[in-house]
Amino acid sequence: MIATLTDAAKSYGRTCALRPTTLHLDTGVIGLLGPNGAGKTTMLRMLATVLAPTSGRITVAGYDVTGAYGERVEARRRIGYLPQEVVFPRGMTAAGFLDYIAVLKEWRNTASRHDEVQRVLALVDLADRSTTKVRALSGGQRRRLAIAQALIGSPSLLILDEPTTGLDPEQRMGLRNILSKQPGAVLISTHQTEDVAALCDRVIVLDDGAVRFDGTVADLLATADGLVHQGAEATVGAIQTWRTGTGLIRSVGGEAAAGIERVTPTVEDAYLLLRQQS
Ligand code: ADP
Repeated sequence: MIATLTDAAKSYGRTCALRPTTLHLDTGVIGLLGPNGAGKTTMLRMLATVLAPTSGRITVAGYDVTGAYGERVEARRRIGYLPQEVVFPRGMTAAGFLDYIAVLKEWRNTASRHDEVQRVLALVDLADRSTTKVRALSGGQRRRLAIAQALIGSPSLLILDEPTTGLDPEQRMGLRNILSKQPGAVLISTHQTEDVAALCDRVIVLDDGAVRFDGTVADLLATADGLVHQGAEATVGAIQTWRTGTGLIRSVGGEAAAGIERVTPTVEDAYLLLRQQS
């Protein structure tokens, strides 16, 4: 088991951001979905050892991050973390910034550190920007540089908070490719339900600080089976309806009248239905 939460909870004063939660995270890409304020960032920051839980226990690679400082250090050696916002030293070059992070990550051998920096730069398609100052990079390039620092050392637990923000579709595909080749557990929070469908072995849906769903993408889609329709009219009681490009009306939820065709649900449909039930 790469990481575990046992009754881990977090409150900010009177606000309960995460209710007591028990989860086991193993190898593979795990998508964390949920509306704004659901507690996703709180959960990721606790796993990244940035934030201590108010109660409960968290382990990473067998080390208790809620225990002694030494255990937390051992866990941090095995974690890569992309926060929602990264503040860069803007005068550094892309390679210089990654080298700095690699030094902090205890890469003492200069030659292998240099190779690792070049490896992660190439992974995020920034090899030709290695000597460019951070301030001269575009928003998308900066985001990819931020992703690159999390990839240093191929961590056992890679935690990415909304990594696709600011990436164009090609770059998102590139990121999927990188993440699918990671050796350990990859936990990503995202609003991109297509990324979840395309990439994730497992989906966790958080809402109001609690896990509402935990299973495979197929399990999630099964919850919406028979509940998505398309036809000339909307279904009665649908939670969402819209006219598609073909002129037909797609309805999520509700009771379909005769002649309205059932269609295969998407992750987005299933997510919307789940949200409605909670
Ligand atoms: P998400 O990442 O799913 O949008 P967050 O984990 O950021 O959710 O927030 C969960 C809840 O905790 C929200 O109600 C948010 O307002 C609250 N919260 C988050 N961070 C803080 C903080 N530093 N101080 C007070 N409340 C916070």
